[in-house]
Amino acid sequence: TNRKRVAIIGSGNWGSAIAKIIGQTTRNHQDTFNPIVNWWVRDQKLKEFINNEHENPKYLPGKKISKNVIAISDLVETCKDVDVLIFVIPHQFIAQVCQQLAGKLKKRAVAISLIKGLSINPTGQIKLISDEISEILGIEVAVLMGANLAHEVADEKFCEATIGTHNKENNGEMWFKLFNTDYFRITIVDDAHTVELCGALKNVVACAAGFADGLKIGENAKVALIRKGLMEIIKFIDNFYPVVRYETIFESCGIADLVTTCYGGRNRKVCEAYVSSNKTLAEVEKELLNGQSAQGPLTAEEIFVTLKSSNSLEK
Ligand code: NAD
Ligand code: 13P
Repeated sequence: TNRKRVAIIGSGNWGSAIAKIIGQTTRNHQDTFNPIVNWWVRDQKLKEFINNEHENPKYLPGKKISKNVIAISDLVETCKDVDVLIFVIPHQFIAQVCQQLAGKLKKRAVAISLIKGLSINPTGQIKLISDEISEILGIEVAVLMGANLAHEVADEKFCEATIGTHNKENNGEMWFKLFNTDYFRITIVDDAHTVELCGALKNVVACAAGFADGLKIGENAKVALIRKGLMEIIKFIDNFYPVVRYETIFESCGIADLVTTCYGGRNRKVCEAYVSSNKTLAEVEKELLNGQSAQGPLTAEEIFVTLKSSNSLEK
């Protein structure tokens, strides 16, 4: 039959919450999807535990993931003969992961990136993670971003998310079926670049919000930072990707994700601890996140390099 085979590449905090959703949606839409989902879990011991207990004890303890999601520790095997790839790993690992898959995928495979972060090319220009995946693998890449703290999604608490496509007519309906549930509400917009940039850039503002909390400068000052941060996000997108559609900023991927991350996210938490201690960022990340990764500080560095190389710093 033509049922699509799905693979999830990434088994961290968000990757595991998404595996829970995909386990459910592929079972509910067996006309469209093969319900056996391949899930890349790098660590052999974790892979075995997950296949026995259907739970990720390191990154999402206590949450059951349905049995039709099968953990595999070999990356190439995970993606073999797969039609739909879901990328959900910390952004600093995307190039090395994609390089291992180059030339090994089904010709007509498509992908979606749930990764919030940026990449920079050797000349110091910013590159979107979806474009990086697309360039290395030669496939079309949509994005999914939104106000989605993983632990709340895993608890099936209500939230919204935005899928950004380059042409909704192509696979919009398929993406909707793959992600939408009664508690995870999807809106699709044909503005993938703005969706992705909102997701990447809000992590930097969340660091500023964390600094504000750590320095105890007050709620009014914190929201002033968030407001100015939003203006800077818009200015950055306008400057580097002048395709921005302002309506997209008002979807879940924009203002909503910015707010949720500035109040409940890991970037906020790590940066609050950093300014309230004498520890390095790496130390507080290790202590507080148990192997999870905060993308904001890395993204801030990528933005800095981009602004410096384009002489935009003083603008
Ligand atoms: P995470 O922060 O929990 O990181 C752990 C993951 O990194 C594990 O899967 C681990 O195997 C992987 N990893 C570590 N070293 C690696 C390597 N060398 N190569 C490949 N993988 C390696 O991950 P996450 O929370 O699933 O985040 C993934 C992406 O999703 C990020 O861009 C994040 O911003 C985004 N996101 C996260 C949340 C959230 O609430 N956690 C919500 C929305 C979006
Ligand atoms: P943190 O990575 O700061 O936890 O943000 C998670 C997120 O992207 C919520 O949508």
